[in-house]
Amino acid sequence: MKCYVDVIVPLPIAGQYTYSLPDEMVGRVLVGCRVVVPFGRKKYYTGLVTRIHEDAPEGYETKEVAELLDEHPILFERQYRFWKWLSEYYLCTLGDVYKAALPSGMKLESETLVVYNPEFVATGPLPEKEQRILDVLSLDTEQCITQLEKNSGIRQLLPVIQSLLEKGAICVKEELKRSYKPKVETRIRLTEGMRSEEMLRKQLDLLARAPKQLAVLMKYLELSAWSAPGNLPKEVTRKQLLETAGVSAAVVNGLVEKRVLETYTAEVGRLIREDRDLQALHTLSEAQEVAFRQILTTFHTKNVCLLHGVTASGKTEIYIHLIQQVLSVGKQVLYLLPEIALTTQITERLKRVFGDKLGIYHSKFPDAERVEIWRKQLSEHDYDVILGVRSSVFLPFRRLGLVIVDEEHEQTYKQQDPAPRYHARNAAIVLASLFGAKTLLGTATPSIETYYNALQGKYGLVELTERHRQICLPRIEVVDIKELARKKRMTGPFSPMLLQQMREALERKEQVILFQNRRGFAPMIECHTCGWVPRCKNCDVSLTYHKELNQLTCHYCGYTYQVPRSCPACGGVELKDRGFGTEKVEDDVKRIFPEVRVARMDLDTTRTRTAYETIIADFQAGRTDVLIGTQMVSKGLDFDRVSVVGILNADSLLNYPDFRSYERAFQLMAQVAGRAGRKNRQGLVILQTKSPDLPLIHQVVTNDYRQMYTEQLEERRLFNYPPFDRLVYVYLKHRKEEVVDQAASVLAGWLRSGMGEWILGPDKPPVGRIQQLFIKKIVVKIAQGTSMTKVRSYLLQLQHALVEDERFRSLVVYYDVDPM
Ligand code: ADP
Ligand code: ZN
Ligand code: ZN
Repeated sequence: MKCYVDVIVPLPIAGQYTYSLPDEMVGRVLVGCRVVVPFGRKKYYTGLVTRIHEDAPEGYETKEVAELLDEHPILFERQYRFWKWLSEYYLCTLGDVYKAALPSGMKLESETLVVYNPEFVATGPLPEKEQRILDVLSLDTEQCITQLEKNSGIRQLLPVIQSLLEKGAICVKEELKRSYKPKVETRIRLTEGMRSEEMLRKQLDLLARAPKQLAVLMKYLELSAWSAPGNLPKEVTRKQLLETAGVSAAVVNGLVEKRVLETYTAEVGRLIREDRDLQALHTLSEAQEVAFRQILTTFHTKNVCLLHGVTASGKTEIYIHLIQQVLSVGKQVLYLLPEIALTTQITERLKRVFGDKLGIYHSKFPDAERVEIWRKQLSEHDYDVILGVRSSVFLPFRRLGLVIVDEEHEQTYKQQDPAPRYHARNAAIVLASLFGAKTLLGTATPSIETYYNALQGKYGLVELTERHRQICLPRIEVVDIKELARKKRMTGPFSPMLLQQMREALERKEQVILFQNRRGFAPMIECHTCGWVPRCKNCDVSLTYHKELNQLTCHYCGYTYQVPRSCPACGGVELKDRGFGTEKVEDDVKRIFPEVRVARMDLDTTRTRTAYETIIADFQAGRTDVLIGTQMVSKGLDFDRVSVVGILNADSLLNYPDFRSYERAFQLMAQVAGRAGRKNRQGLVILQTKSPDLPLIHQVVTNDYRQMYTEQLEERRLFNYPPFDRLVYVYLKHRKEEVVDQAASVLAGWLRSGMGEWILGPDKPPVGRIQQLFIKKIVVKIAQGTSMTKVRSYLLQLQHALVEDERFRSLVVYYDVDPM
């Protein structure tokens, strides 16, 4: 009987593929193992086996599995159920989930290698780009495409390669690349026959005439702390033995030849193991103790609990106690943090308590390290606690007992691109339920959805209203900058009040945080004469001006441009910047306070993890005085010496065209304010705005979350937004604007006739073109109580019908479920 396997391939293709198993693999391949499979004409991918069966597929000849990569499954059954849930709920393929879940080193790639053909003779002159590629290839006759792009300086090489292939000037070679190589070391141990007191004593006597070998053996016994058979000796590496015994390799080899010692290789962890004294847990304060008990009680009846505690109330302290509790019954904990909140601060704090029971999973870690954590979690010696970012929901767990989602309101928990566009908080709740585990959501400013679920009784709710040791919340002063600007009393982005408070704080050797929600120097530059604004040629947005680099950058596609000397529209030479970003603020602070040490924290200054950590460490140690930043500065950091926080322009948060903008503005301002005055004295927040009378500003000042929630909820109810209706955004993309326009109106028409008034659009999103693709968006509102399963299959059915149409063949269609 022929055996077949169903395999997930890392491609956005619906469904799974069936391959036949060569006889020698039958019985060795298990569900959850990785296999190398051919795909298309020349490609190889690593696939994941999901089913083994004997049903020959009908209608096509199966290809054979080329290689088996695992002895043991790397995907557990519960994980697979989690993957299936993700792909169904978020309307994407299992291949999409697979790609997101595994680190690259575990998904072998077939990187296309291009090979030079020396026999090729051109019949006429080649186009310039093709000639250039051939020239580059002739120097080094085998290169992969990415390498060729780098060496030739030509982007978008595929069409050029295609043309050269057709001409027979080059050919393509496939090679599987193993990008993860475990690090191994050689170790030394006693041979089996030597592992008894008696044999050892005899051997020591025998070696009396070989003093060097005797010394080495003695050294080994010392290093391994060998005492008696059965007692586990310590691992001794060959290198270590040679170094400490101070002998040449020949001496050790002599002992190996005499079959006294033997060598073996073992994989070494890249993960640094630290032996440190662990700290006892802090005793919880009375209020914290009450909250802790309430959470435990809640978990008797509910699977999810919200811990709503003001900043610095000790939420983290409570998490630590909960983790301890869960570990004591032999279960695991997943502790999720938003990407930019995962810093050494929190890592150190947990390491001190949990030592090497704690593993850290970060998307900015080198891939090899992430592979290693995967491997460890698959093994018997898995970490008990994983502290990680969004993608750590994909790690394999065996005995998950609790998931903590800290800063649950953070929108960065939602993955935007590529698919799966999942929300890690919601996914974590599902993951936990697959294990029968509990989920704790923690924040000072809950998302409206979560708070609604808590008040409805779907989640438990526990509140902590006071800061630890009664440190007071900061005082917030509102400054009307519209009035001040009219009277010409602003200095750049600063009101006189903010300047004065900054000056006083700096004189007292205290620190200042300035929050501005825009990076770059100015949001844009503008021709003073005709109003021309430079825009990205790939995307439909104006470019941001970066003074330091003297460049214009597109924040969507990353493309950079030189700043023009004159306006291309009218020839005018007066190009002025408009508005201000973090870089401009930095410039102004340096000008006004020349003696002050300033740091800036935004996407541009924190490309690497270390850059980010350095900025924080410097500020924490008092090596910088003023920290200027985008929303990054609001992320759960503890600074002791910050007495003044300036919110430079609240209006830029409020004017964002999105139904969540008020909720977000409140969260951001409350979080930023929470950075002020943590230890010694009450902090001061200067909130600059052009609309001081807005109710939302008042709610921020009085830290009245409830009031904000009530008002926002009422608005959501009125206009049918979440948490009442659910949203699915349908995106259509195409190179040609007419095609995307037509397709969008056809699809919207169908949706309307099927679902009526609950369809909005098609609209051009705020950025209507990204990387040369025109975009249209259709909003589908799904009323409470409607079956999501039905809606999803309806959407997919329409999508299939749409791309059947000849005109829309190359249309890209994708979905954003529960968009943020
Ligand atoms: P949150 O997570 O709510 O912002 P934290 O747990 O970070 O609050 O607590 C704020 C500060 O107070 C931290 O420096 C923390 O170490 C300290 N702290 C909180 N609770 C205790 C406690 N019970 N004992 C000692 N220190 C505490
Ligand atoms: Zn002009
Ligand atoms: Zn762009």
